[in-house]
Amino acid sequence: MHLYGTQKINEKGHLAIGGTDAVDLAKEYGTPLFVYDIQLFRDRARAFKKTFEDAGIGYQVAYASKAFSSIAIYQVAAQENLSLDVVSGGELYTALQAGFPKEKIHFHGNNKSEEELRMAFKEEIGCIVVDNFYEISQLKKLSEELARPMNILLRVTPGIEAHTHDYITTGQEDSKFGFDLNNGQADLAFKETHEHQFLNLLGLHCHIGSQIFDTAAFSMAAEKLVGKMAQWREETGYTCPVLNLGGGFGIRYTAEDEPLEPSVYVKDMISTVKETAAVQDYPLPEIWIEPGRSLVGDAGTTLYTIGSMKEVPGTRKYAAVDGGMSDNIRPALYGAKYSSLIANKAEAAATEQYTIAGKCCESGDKLIEQADLPLAEAGDILAVFCTGAYGYSMASNYNRLARPAVVFAENGNHQLVVKRETLEDLVKQDMSYALQEQKG
Ligand SMILES: *Cc1c(COP(=O)(O)O)cnc(C)c1O
Repeated sequence: MHLYGTQKINEKGHLAIGGTDAVDLAKEYGTPLFVYDIQLFRDRARAFKKTFEDAGIGYQVAYASKAFSSIAIYQVAAQENLSLDVVSGGELYTALQAGFPKEKIHFHGNNKSEEELRMAFKEEIGCIVVDNFYEISQLKKLSEELARPMNILLRVTPGIEAHTHDYITTGQEDSKFGFDLNNGQADLAFKETHEHQFLNLLGLHCHIGSQIFDTAAFSMAAEKLVGKMAQWREETGYTCPVLNLGGGFGIRYTAEDEPLEPSVYVKDMISTVKETAAVQDYPLPEIWIEPGRSLVGDAGTTLYTIGSMKEVPGTRKYAAVDGGMSDNIRPALYGAKYSSLIANKAEAAATEQYTIAGKCCESGDKLIEQADLPLAEAGDILAVFCTGAYGYSMASNYNRLARPAVVFAENGNHQLVVKRETLEDLVKQDMSYALQEQKG
């Protein structure tokens, strides 16, 4: 069994998170419940930042907040002096409601609406990460109309795709995101933006994948992007001061995953950028990164109550919980794996094997295919680990299930930061239909 961050087994033999008893949290707030270990979030954020600071290099660490977006997590991110990635007007609005420093907000997305872009100009956010030529033309039009400046980065696809345990390099990338670095699109985007009177081109951005467990792909990307910026400098004299290498740092969902320390990823990036810049005689750019999952993923745990159980003789035992694909779509969506523990029997030996099923009307609604647990009974509190990223943020009301509550636990204190939806919430947007008379 593996515990994360501040997790412990307490004197009652219960799982504790952030110094609070998980069984008590389940009682107080109900289940399903997302519990975040905020100290773990802070420790990760600080580890990323410290590595840049120790190396004496200009940097920004932006929390890629699509992993988990809420006012409270934005407040913690601000307290830790992080920057923030948003990908929609909704995330931007949430950040503004949280009082997040506007100048440290970066706006991503492959199809930003005019309304969203206007919001970015009006709020004078830190930068827009430009994805495509349509967006360039919109940004030119808007910035001229408003006579307002905007910092931009160009998102490029370098032809390196990183996956969990390997990466592939392709001459050209079939991705819906960004300008291709190899076929001239990125050069054209540079040409169209770097001299614009209102658009201030800061540099290049790439995001090469997720759940990445080695440093090689980041290094290759860094080398390619610095090379491109050096080429442009040689051709035009224009120096891009920023290199953004995205996110994708892996975390441990199960024993199969072996992530590196944040410092290892960052140190390697820094040395590659330094070397490449030296070779190309290019002024050392600031390095920006965008961790999402690695800040919130293993900081989050979902607590469920076990209800019905079913044995298919000779095949398997099912234990059903009071949530499922409505609060965690990842197993159904792409076979994501998780580990778990019965929070009220945290010290008991794992003698049984269960398939953890959700309560949604889909036979694919299974959270864990094979969970090794002690004998489970109705009423037990099941803790599923590592659900902090792309869990709540992808939650739905499928089957009209109310979305769970979210609690932050830190230093023995716990605090509700997202309320559980109520039955009234579920029909809040519904309107009655003015029934038409039926003839005959
Ligand atoms: C999703 C995303 C991230 C964060 O990815 P993680 O795997 O959660 O670290 C960073 N940058 C961009 C552009 C993204 O789309």
